[in-house]
Amino acid sequence: KPTGSRSEALYNEALQHIVGGVNSPSRSFKAVGGGAPVFMKRGKGAYFWDEDGKRYIDYLAAYGPIILGHAHPHVTAAICRAAENGTLFGTPTELEVVFARMLKSAIPSLDKVRFVNSGTEAVMTTIRVARAFTGRSKIIKFAGCYHGHSDLVLVAAGSGPSTLGIPDSAGVPKSIASEVITVPYNDSEALEAALAHWGDEIAAVMIEPIVGNFGMVMPKPGFLERLCTATRRNGSLVIYDEVITAFRFHYGAAQTFDGLEAPSYAAIEPDLTALGKIIGGGLPIGAYGGRKEIMDKVAPLGPAYQAGTMAGNPASISAGIACLEALQEPGLYDRLDRLAASLEAGLAAAARAHGIALTINRIRGSLSTHFCNHPVSDYEEAQDTDGELFAHFFRSMLEQGICLAPSKYEAWFMTAAHTEQDIADTITAADHAFAKLKPYI
Ligand code: PMP
Repeated sequence: KPTGSRSEALYNEALQHIVGGVNSPSRSFKAVGGGAPVFMKRGKGAYFWDEDGKRYIDYLAAYGPIILGHAHPHVTAAICRAAENGTLFGTPTELEVVFARMLKSAIPSLDKVRFVNSGTEAVMTTIRVARAFTGRSKIIKFAGCYHGHSDLVLVAAGSGPSTLGIPDSAGVPKSIASEVITVPYNDSEALEAALAHWGDEIAAVMIEPIVGNFGMVMPKPGFLERLCTATRRNGSLVIYDEVITAFRFHYGAAQTFDGLEAPSYAAIEPDLTALGKIIGGGLPIGAYGGRKEIMDKVAPLGPAYQAGTMAGNPASISAGIACLEALQEPGLYDRLDRLAASLEAGLAAAARAHGIALTINRIRGSLSTHFCNHPVSDYEEAQDTDGELFAHFFRSMLEQGICLAPSKYEAWFMTAAHTEQDIADTITAADHAFAKLKPYI
């Protein structure tokens, strides 16, 4: 029913000019009952305000990058400084050298890096480089992982594509889709069988080392280690898509996160890594990097081509440097962890009190809520959850000024700006929302 809100008016207008009214399909409310998404006007810290002036506590964090909260002063100052000094030169700058050094010291598997403009570009290029290095063409990916919107990875894609019921996108030629082999996440036997079968045709195994795209899902103990061993035995490369996970759980990547159960970091180290989101401090960015001899295949040193007019632009790089500097504040990640732990406990207790089956996957300051009574450790389990209950929950939370992603697959992200009071208010709102779910159970 019409609400008379400004968001609704803007959405109706947007529909005339922008496909679906949105510039990324994951922003649409199609999977949560349809209608106008909320148009935001301004953000500060843990909050943003819509076009009608209503305030929301933000757990979307722009799908991940806004880990410091909106308009963080250190990041804002860096962006302003960059804008005043000229936003684009088409030449190298010192900033890029500084930032590359920062990333390398936080993620030791990066002998060399390249900056691009999005996670999609970063992933897409790691695949090209892996193919150039190995001379092979196939890749293995995991069902439900999302790696951006380049052709090869829009097969069994999680996140937006699965939310909208199009995990295998139209427009990807069969010849390209046939280069991708999909196996279930956390299934070592299936992966080893695929590697045994396709043997020396596999250029790379692409994985989210910790999943952020069908909920937050940890690799089972030993899974990444077996993946690395089996892949290398085969002469294929390991690519970690750390677009969501880098700098999410600690100051480093998933590959150096001590929450992973692996014998050593070396045992699970990838050959190539794709980065994005947080490393841009809220501005467009992507980066990829890895072993020197592989990265040296990239032009101008080698024959694999990748370029970008905007790549490494001073504003994005300055925002990224400032964001990483701010993330080095002692105790910041422990604070995110504590806040998310109290949110998890409060949500679980409220759901239990109302007889709602809810599985919560939490990794440090990120969590996902699944309306089901089973664990969620792979894509099938994430699909087998109640999307309708989620939709009602989402709507009720939004009405109460709590903003989540409009998808049952997406995570809630804690930011450095959230407070204990925000968490308490969120739990109270969730309690009301769960109470209203009774008729739909
Ligand atoms: N890889 C992963 C793991 C992601 O989560 C995303 C975005 N959600 C991407 C790649 C694509 O990044 P971008 O949207 O910046 O192209």
